[in-house]
Amino acid sequence: MLTPAVENLVAQLTRLPGVGTRTAQRLAFHLLSVPTDESLALGDAIREVKERVRACSECGHLTEDELCTICADSRRDRSVICVVEHPVDVVSLERTHEHRGLYHVLGGALSPLDGVDPGDLRVAGLFERVARGGIVEVVLATNPTMTGEATAAYLADRLRDQVAVTRLASG
Ligand code: ZN
Repeated sequence: MLTPAVENLVAQLTRLPGVGTRTAQRLAFHLLSVPTDESLALGDAIREVKERVRACSECGHLTEDELCTICADSRRDRSVICVVEHPVDVVSLERTHEHRGLYHVLGGALSPLDGVDPGDLRVAGLFERVARGGIVEVVLATNPTMTGEATAAYLADRLRDQVAVTRLASG
């Protein structure tokens, strides 16, 4: 009923989380109806983030440089690292202005059933940062889910004899 190009756009949009066929069709028709440069701005924005954005070499947060703005900020307290699952968690914690230290973004949570082992996450990098010294406290702010709790327990177990480990209740 639609042209192959429109069908393809709908199919791509349907792959986004929370977007069903009806919504995808509505978005596709919207993109067709607005001026070309407005539609292409979306495409360009997607291409740009995929080309420019990468993980901070120190903490794993999103950056377009070697280090993210938090790691590069000399005013941050370098003795405290807050461990989170995803970059979005950094964003919500930053909104509270309560954490003045650095972060470590794991890239997920341990989930043996789904085949997610420590090697699949940025765990070794965290141990390295702690081993390098200068860290006095690690705040575990993984999500209050089964996998988040398991990850916090695993990390607490391995870090407890080197630094103070605290669990941040979130949710
Ligand atoms: Zn960073």
